[in-house]
Amino acid sequence: MGPRGVVVIGAGQGGLDTAAALRGRGYRGRITLVGEEPTLPYQRPPLSKGFLTGDTAAADLELRPRAYFAAQDVELVSGTRATKIDRERRTVSLETGATLPYDSLVLATGARPRTLPVPGAASLAGVLTLRGLADAEGLRARLTGPPRRLVVIGAGFIGLELAATARKLGHGVTVVEAQSRALARALTPVMSARLVAEHTGAGVRVLLDREVTALWGDSAGRVEVVELDGAERIPADLVVVGIGVLPNTELAAVAQLQVGDGVIVDAYLRTDDPDVYALGDCARFPSPHAGRHVRLESVQNAADQAKCVAAGICGDRVPYTAVPWFWSEQYALRLQIAGLTAGHDETVVVGDPEGGRFSVFCFRDGRLTGVESVNRPADHGIARRLLASGTDLTADDVRRPGFDLKTVARTAAAAGAPTA
Ligand code: FAD
Ligand code: NAP
Repeated sequence: MGPRGVVVIGAGQGGLDTAAALRGRGYRGRITLVGEEPTLPYQRPPLSKGFLTGDTAAADLELRPRAYFAAQDVELVSGTRATKIDRERRTVSLETGATLPYDSLVLATGARPRTLPVPGAASLAGVLTLRGLADAEGLRARLTGPPRRLVVIGAGFIGLELAATARKLGHGVTVVEAQSRALARALTPVMSARLVAEHTGAGVRVLLDREVTALWGDSAGRVEVVELDGAERIPADLVVVGIGVLPNTELAAVAQLQVGDGVIVDAYLRTDDPDVYALGDCARFPSPHAGRHVRLESVQNAADQAKCVAAGICGDRVPYTAVPWFWSEQYALRLQIAGLTAGHDETVVVGDPEGGRFSVFCFRDGRLTGVESVNRPADHGIARRLLASGTDLTADDVRRPGFDLKTVARTAAAAGAPTA
């Protein structure tokens, strides 16, 4: 432990969890958490769900109460951007003019929404994105008024969760997606189809394979029309763009660290400078589950990577191997994903998709790589354990009449080894 301590840039999920994990491990050096948002570190998942309906208050979003920072001697510098990293001097400059020395630096800068590259998107009022608390407050103010015609661009996690929330609040909702199915990169076709059916049943108009070509406004500069494929025009008084994110890699790039759709790190989440780590939405890391470098955007990924980075800083180097998992909530459907399902070549569906309780087992080259579950939390929990320990469960095993994942787990536990 050197005298300069640890500086963490980004006071979101991964940044806060890094500070907490360092103190949890007994790290006694200085910890400074720099965040450009003016708030205490908070959780984002409710911003597209309960925060918009009013079920979750702003205070309930806080990851730690203010008193935590003094009690744990974590210096929180909020409302301030880090503007430069000097790797020779091992310092970080802040926009206030202050300079922070470090022994170890952690980049936890997250990601920002992609912007829609069509006329009107950048200039019209009523065209929003959703990433932070300030965005969600603006959106909530608009959604708590009279019914609106909301057009959501992008049928990803933001788009679908927001569509479900807005329907609950009584708004008219159209979702426009460029791909031929929803959440095409993240989910299997059967899960995409089930989610879209739920939205359609709830009265959402889901338009797939459609290109937004322009947004048009009224004389006051407020959005009133979304133009599709240069032809069809949909009336709108509110547009939310949820077409994915770009990792915040600029500081790393200027500091001449290796970047490419994320800050590139090794199995220990170290950049090509061994004193600088990166984690969470901004980091591209070698995943043993994917068999390649990936960048994952989830709370689990940021939280577990924070523990790995804290361990590395404390001299307890372990490679990052946690099984990825994700969740989403839309209407009465609780979707949980264990592992990575992209790139599968075989799927087996267990349960009742129509009835809203089912799991999709995904295999690649004969090996289980992930399980998507709707309202089957036991499947999700067991799948995570099997993926962590390794399993030789096959698609034929899952297809067998009477297949029960709990029995598989019990057998594996009894054998003390992975088995189907
Ligand atoms: P962030 O939490 O985004 O934190 C990064 C922080 O760094 C930000 O506060 C940013 O302002 C700050 N920062 C950036 N650059 C600088 C700089 N130069 N100086 C100072 N500060 C800087 N995931 C799930 O698993 N389940 C969900 O249900 C879910 N729902 C979500 C709903 C919404 C609306 C959103 C936006 C995300 C959701 N996510 C969900 C994703 C999850 O919140 C992110 O994956 C997670 O927050 C990533 O953590 P992070 O620390 O990498 O980044
Ligand atoms: P996302 O999940 O990546 O989905 C974006 C979707 O929009 C993709 O299907 C994308 O297709 C599509 N798209 C891209 N360009 C488009 C265009 N011009 N017109 C129409 N559709 C277009 O990203 P997101 O929904 O914006 O979410 C942002 C971030 O928040 C992500 O990090 C996400 O993980 C996180 N989040 C997570 C959750 C959760 O885990 N439950 C909930 C909310 C938000 P392509 O795939 O072809 O680009």
